[in-house]
Amino acid sequence: MSEAVNGLAKKFNSPQHYYSTERQDARYKLLPFNFERVGDSYLLTNEVGEYLFISGEDLHSLVHETLDPKSDVYSSLKSRHFLYEVGSESAIELLSLKLRTKHAVFRQFTSLHIFVVSLRCDYSCPYCQVSRQTEDADRYDMDEETALRSLDFVFRTPSEHIKIEFQGGEPLLNWEVIEFTVLEAEKINKTEKRDLAFVIATNLTLISDEILEFCYQHDVFISTSLDGPAHVHNRNRPRPGKDGHQIVRDQIERVREKLGPDRISALMTTSELSLSHPREIIDEYLDADFKGIFLRPLSPYGFAVKTHQIEKYDFERFFEFYQDSMEYIFEINEAGIPFVEEFSALLLRKISLPYPTGYVDLQSPAGAGVSAIVFNYDGDVYASDESRMLAEMGDHKFRLGNILSNTYEEIFLESGLLEILEETLTDSVPECYQCAYKPFCGSEPVYHYATQRDPVGNKALSGFCTKTKTITNYLLDIMENDPARRQILQSWI
Ligand code: SF4
Repeated sequence: MSEAVNGLAKKFNSPQHYYSTERQDARYKLLPFNFERVGDSYLLTNEVGEYLFISGEDLHSLVHETLDPKSDVYSSLKSRHFLYEVGSESAIELLSLKLRTKHAVFRQFTSLHIFVVSLRCDYSCPYCQVSRQTEDADRYDMDEETALRSLDFVFRTPSEHIKIEFQGGEPLLNWEVIEFTVLEAEKINKTEKRDLAFVIATNLTLISDEILEFCYQHDVFISTSLDGPAHVHNRNRPRPGKDGHQIVRDQIERVREKLGPDRISALMTTSELSLSHPREIIDEYLDADFKGIFLRPLSPYGFAVKTHQIEKYDFERFFEFYQDSMEYIFEINEAGIPFVEEFSALLLRKISLPYPTGYVDLQSPAGAGVSAIVFNYDGDVYASDESRMLAEMGDHKFRLGNILSNTYEEIFLESGLLEILEETLTDSVPECYQCAYKPFCGSEPVYHYATQRDPVGNKALSGFCTKTKTITNYLLDIMENDPARRQILQSWI
């Protein structure tokens, strides 16, 4: 043995030391799990997202294989696949099956296809994350050739489900290309026979009878923005005439009358002003007859960065807002009115169900490219909506190519997408691989690149990581300690 190896041998135990730590008389073996101290107990989670809080004493006994088989904690650990009894190896098969089910979403490959048909917009929101352009700058519009070529790509996906979402800017400023794309996609789908769906993400200002009739005929879903009551919405989302709030509320009703009550949804973005009005914002959603709200903090892209909106509050202030909002949402549910906070509902589904949620922002590997892909107005292809937002700020790190000059294979296999995805496997990246929140979390390479210039990022400094951990702890605390509110949360799943 060389001196260097001898030197190492002095610092480390021999390999044999690690081969078997099992007691020969042990009745059970451990299955893989992570743990984290939360208050006085330890949160244990396994590969498929089952979790349990146990005491430090029980954790110590568990890992030393001295846990009493007649104890309640032993039964719970066994039924949730933290241990299996010697001789019943079928437990491993069952766990593998659950793991395969959890990852089944990747068999489908890309299902969400975002068409950025125009960067122009009639609003001038200071928190705009897509760096919109003025209404007359029509060089920022997608043309028919680019739309057609994008459709070629869309139908190359093996996914049975194809959703095409039109975004902007304000996509209705380029209505002709939306109409053209829908008609062409339907033509192709006559032979493809996929489950095809369309969404337009619009501020609703330009919705006309003709557009509504088309949406009705072609089953197009509408998604809009509603930030709260007039004094919040109009400050967050200014437009000439300062009447954005009135327009959006009137148009929501008009869309519902024509397309049906469930054919429109709304998203809110949390500005600094929003933080002081949680109840009024939720009242606005109730008044507009929505059944829930997605409490979304600002993202570090576009005008949100240029106008320094992103610096105006930190996660601690957002979490206070989230807690105040949740308190009110619980009161509403306790009064017999069903109303959901959508981000919490997503996390709860990840915590409680053995199925994938399909939510691209909490996936491992990240949903970039493999769950969602973006076709920009100029033919550039991006791995996610956030990637194209970053590109509009001049950073093309996550650009995968251009549909007018690259093939499908070049874009998916030679663009660097695979390297990006490799860096987003929480099972292997530093900190995440041993984190107890891993089954409920995912990866956001663009967020970490935008904030830390590194797609993996140091999770101790990551707002994404803090958000997942803090909100998961908040929800798990209720699930464990508040039976009445647990029932409400379970009804959201
Ligand atoms: S981002 Fe944070 S919470 Fe999520 S898995 Fe990684 S370390 Fe855990």
